[in-house]
Amino acid sequence: MSVMILILGAVFALALVAVIVVVVIALWPREGKLGINLKNVNCPRCATPMPATRLPKNTKQVLWGGWTCPKCGCEIDKYGAEVPGRAG
Ligand SMILES: [Zn+2]
Repeated sequence: MSVMILILGAVFALALVAVIVVVVIALWPREGKLGINLKNVNCPRCATPMPATRLPKNTKQVLWGGWTCPKCGCEIDKYGAEVPGRAG
């Protein structure tokens, strides 16, 4: 029954992919440049909440996330820390 073997193979492959996806998500860094921050972020200067959906203002924000505060112009990284080296 080669059809059964094919189906079993497909199910096994899908299960393997599902396990890999779960492991990758579980082990994905929560900090650093590749990290994902799922918490809400407020501006460190004026405490304005940043929108969950962001419009990147420069390539760095496209690549690494972060916001520019609409109220005070402060640059914020994706963890809610002020990005240094740039006058607000
Ligand atoms: Zn601000």
